[in-house]
Amino acid sequence: MSIDRTKIQWNGWGWAAHQDDLAGNEALWTWLAGELGMPALLATPARPLESIALPPVRLSADARERFTALLGADRVRDDAYERAFHALGRSYHDVLRMRAGDLSTAPDAVLYPRSGDEVLGVLAAAAELGIAVVPYGGGTSVVGAVTASAGPFKSAITVDLSGMDRIVEIDPVSRTATVEAGIHGPALEKALGARGFTLGHFPQSFEFSTVGGWIAHRGAGQGSHGYGRAQDWLAAAKLATPRGVLGAGGFPGSSAGPQLLDLVLGSEGVFGIVTEATLRIVPVPAVSDYRGYLFRDFASGAAAIREAAQAGVAATMLRLSDAAETRFYRAYGAVGKRRGLRDRLADLVLSQRGFDDKACALIAGFEGEADGVTRARAAFDAIARRHKAMALGEGQGRRWKAGRFHGPYLRDPMMDRGVGVDTLETATSWSKLNDLYVAVQSALTGAIQGSAPREGARGVVQCHISHAYPDGASLYFTYIFPRALEREIEQWRAIKTAASDAIAANGGTISHHHGVGEDHLPWIAHEKGALGIDVLRAVKMALDPKGVMNPGKLIPPV
Ligand SMILES: Cc1cc2nc3c(=O)[nH]c(=O)nc-3n(C[C@H](O)[C@H](O)[C@H](O)COP(=O)(O)OP(=O)(O)OC[C@H]3O[C@@H](n4cnc5c(N)ncnc54)[C@H](O)[C@@H]3O)c2cc1C
Repeated sequence: MSIDRTKIQWNGWGWAAHQDDLAGNEALWTWLAGELGMPALLATPARPLESIALPPVRLSADARERFTALLGADRVRDDAYERAFHALGRSYHDVLRMRAGDLSTAPDAVLYPRSGDEVLGVLAAAAELGIAVVPYGGGTSVVGAVTASAGPFKSAITVDLSGMDRIVEIDPVSRTATVEAGIHGPALEKALGARGFTLGHFPQSFEFSTVGGWIAHRGAGQGSHGYGRAQDWLAAAKLATPRGVLGAGGFPGSSAGPQLLDLVLGSEGVFGIVTEATLRIVPVPAVSDYRGYLFRDFASGAAAIREAAQAGVAATMLRLSDAAETRFYRAYGAVGKRRGLRDRLADLVLSQRGFDDKACALIAGFEGEADGVTRARAAFDAIARRHKAMALGEGQGRRWKAGRFHGPYLRDPMMDRGVGVDTLETATSWSKLNDLYVAVQSALTGAIQGSAPREGARGVVQCHISHAYPDGASLYFTYIFPRALEREIEQWRAIKTAASDAIAANGGTISHHHGVGEDHLPWIAHEKGALGIDVLRAVKMALDPKGVMNPGKLIPPV
């Protein structure tokens, strides 16, 4: 198994041994309290697992015996740690519940298959016995897609794929790699790197998420501009279903009807379990160049990204923070530090050049052969200059790259101080992007204020563009707010509903790369239409007629 589950936080983010680098930084907590309009931030520790009563195991002795006969006793687990760890994913909502001790969705058992045949055996048995099956890769879903809900059934098992992490084949001629779907990001990149290749898929959850989860959520890594997203790099997949194996893809191009691979991508475990996948890989880049720019405002930064995407500038990443995000991270980085002469001079230069509090930072990444990187960078430089941006050099880019997986580690210490941190994302066409941005920002701000714990409390709502296409782009919102202790789930729901309604009303998708899960279910019919939902139901009926696969996710109940 590539990652020992006991070394990861069961109710938060990351390695259990990770040092909380905000601990004891009282200057930071005082500053943050001020930002949120709170007099002080209270200690709000999570409940330890030992103090939480898990629901009784509902799996019958016969069912347990059946699974044990298939996998062996050590791979059918129902101890408290395994059940708690797999009860929910890693969204703010999930973590809120785990920290409060709500483990009502703990699975009745966690199964660790080691092969596609074992998965098939488990699914056939679950369908026959009427047991819900929740496929689980890294469990980093942020939309409630691994919540171990039993749905209409009496019991639920989680099938953890982390034991299926082998590299089946690397074909350097075709530039493909065939891998088992439970392999985690670092193990995959290590194996590919040893042969001179990379997939280039680096979601912020890279350390803990798996190839199967990336496919099942149609994920997009931070470098999707250059390396593409799941639908671009997935060449073929094997989907184990209660009715057998669906083989999909495998041709570089084909006009033989609609492509079945599209039923695997984004399927969120409701049709079956991806056991093996063939991925398009590329040589490890010779040069990796990340650098910063400062734009006068969000509109000019967005226009530069649009121009670059439409002109085919070969950037790996173009990530534009809005003014709130730019200001927040600048202020956060400065807390507790003495402002020296250099800082004051930098401020003076910026204001003389007309950069005010509307200024927006952009990180641009270019990877590949030296010539290509030089060309792409020059092309983006020219576009940025036309939009009156200031080049900030490589320092900003280096710092961003060094900390690219660090952000999520800040959520738990903030939650320990009564602060909520949540994110959501969407995408739309360029012509609708600004209206969508304004609408979601205002919905979030209003809902946070409306559900605040006290008069005058407020949130910090930030946004960035991080994935762009010739016809549109994604918007990724991060919002930090004082938690309304005692009514936190209602607060989460009020904020989520306001933002999701605004997305639906302004032509955005309910998710650009996080998926649907349970949390986005109320908005999916609006996006797909009644007929679209019927098509998804028909596919489910064909592959999973008993409906045991991941009930309550992606497809609304009839
Ligand atoms: C801090 C943080 C940062 C994130 N950043 C990004 C990001 O940059 N880009 C991005 O795209 N996402 C991001 N995510 C969301 C999440 O990490 C991705 O959706 C990821 O692809 C999930 O992979 P996983 O292996 O953890 O899947 P899981 O969470 O285990 O599962 C996700 C869904 O896929 C299903 N599933 C898992 N494995 C299989 C399989 N083998 N076969 C069939 N179904 C399966 C599950 O049932 C579930 O429906 C982030 C999440 C967090 C918490």
